[in-house]
Amino acid sequence: MKQAARPRRSGGGHRCRRRGRSPAAAGQSGASGTAGRPAKTVPVRLIAVNDFHGNLEPPTGSSGRIVDETGTTVDAGGAAYMATHIKQMADANTTLVAAGDLIGATPLISAAYHDEPTVELLGKLGLEVSAVGNHEFDEGYKELLRIMKGGCHPVDGCSPAGKWRGAEYDYLGANVRFKKAPEVPAIAPFSVKRINGVKVGFIGLVTATTPSIVTAEGIKDLTFVEEVAAANRASKALRALGVKAQVVLVHEGDQINAGQSPDACSVVPGAGSRIAQGVTPEIDLVIMGHSHQAYICKVKDPAGQDRYVTQGSSFGRVLTQFDFQVDKRTGDVVRSSVVADNRVVTRNVTPDPEIAAFVQTWKDRVAEVANRQIGTITADITRTPAASGETPLGNLIADAQLEATTTGGNAQVALMNPGGVRADLTFGTDNGVVTYGEAFTVQPFNNLMQVVTLTGAQLDALLEQQYQVNRVLAPSASLTYTVSASAAVGSKVSDIKINGTPVTETQQIRVAANNFLVGGGDGFTVFTQGTDLWSGPLDIDAFVAYFGAHSPVAPPATNRITVAP
Ligand SMILES: [Zn+2]
Repeated sequence: MKQAARPRRSGGGHRCRRRGRSPAAAGQSGASGTAGRPAKTVPVRLIAVNDFHGNLEPPTGSSGRIVDETGTTVDAGGAAYMATHIKQMADANTTLVAAGDLIGATPLISAAYHDEPTVELLGKLGLEVSAVGNHEFDEGYKELLRIMKGGCHPVDGCSPAGKWRGAEYDYLGANVRFKKAPEVPAIAPFSVKRINGVKVGFIGLVTATTPSIVTAEGIKDLTFVEEVAAANRASKALRALGVKAQVVLVHEGDQINAGQSPDACSVVPGAGSRIAQGVTPEIDLVIMGHSHQAYICKVKDPAGQDRYVTQGSSFGRVLTQFDFQVDKRTGDVVRSSVVADNRVVTRNVTPDPEIAAFVQTWKDRVAEVANRQIGTITADITRTPAASGETPLGNLIADAQLEATTTGGNAQVALMNPGGVRADLTFGTDNGVVTYGEAFTVQPFNNLMQVVTLTGAQLDALLEQQYQVNRVLAPSASLTYTVSASAAVGSKVSDIKINGTPVTETQQIRVAANNFLVGGGDGFTVFTQGTDLWSGPLDIDAFVAYFGAHSPVAPPATNRITVAP
């Protein structure tokens, strides 16, 4: 198969299949090369992407816009545009790498086929190596192994493209281990690529918080150990193999102050900074993901040398380009030579025709499902939070979830995690028509709705947990309460009512939520104290049914949580 936008493959390296050798470094002029003498260093270019989340088509709404280097908000993303940008950026010494969440929480065009279209696309783009992200585990470890190695889906069978051949790139996860034997890697910790005649080692890491943000069942045999120690162990192993140019791909990152250039470093130090500063000085570069932010930073490594740490937003809106020199004698990166640049994947370039055709093929396949009208809306229904933290779309989903779990589950209230609301619903130019495809973009996880019984005291504790984990759950209209801005964490919530009636400590309340939350996801451990578990429909089916019953649907008010001083 002809490969559209594949930068020249690196050759040779460990674990690497079907790679051709790149031309020898002869004739390359390195940083310290002087006339008449062979170059002492060779140039290497990396292009990095993170949190692509299956955005084969250009992402829409706020997910498809970004502030560029001039401070202008521009449209960005889309696989065919990305392919063109990669072709323009790639030279003979370029390798495409990624920092996880390439799949999972994807649009229907990818999700309907268990993300095989996305993994195939990334192979076509020339991706060589990626860290696993938490979302790579959305369908469980076994399914991730199938995505990596090939074979048809055990339940849904082969996709319309035929038998799945497996990922063309390596997935790495140095801190993913088996619970029974925590020294044994469950995913390859690193891989080595030969680029421009020199060996570059890539170490993959995923956030150690993965168990609290992924459905527990699918990863029940795995443990996710602390990232820095795992990286240092992999680094040591690389060094033992004589690989001194070392790059970390880590699916963890920091938040930033909003509205900055993608090249700015305005991070709020968090887990990302801890890892970027903590890993051994042997590691030359730290490429991040997970927080969906764009930044180019330099931190001091433990030896006091500058080390780049970067992230490229999400959904294929930004590619990060790295250029550096590798000393041919030592095999190490000349740290002072490293430059990094975030490049917005603008849509003012000609989309790559082969990738555009590939995307269209899958679009056609999924069209019948995606284009079915499920209802209408009267105006945009967004994820824009009110002062209380509620969002119109979150509230709508909670209402739909309550309605779908009242019969059978006897639910009285529903609570929805904000991270599970993945896109806005826009009125658009079609008179507010909502299609299955659009609804799926909002609710792409195929989570199961569940109901558990909590006491009034437990519901109170659960609502208090929101301010410990900094996530406000969207409440169904049946649930109201007051939160005090000034009260200490742990005693912020009061005046809890269900349908206007105050809740007592010992009252038994049927609470609906998706299986992720009920399993204690996002740190809401109180959910796991629930009793009398009932499982109902998929969350997407609950959402679709609500549109069937209530269209046209207006944006719900965000008045369920009252903010007191
Ligand atoms: Zn993530």
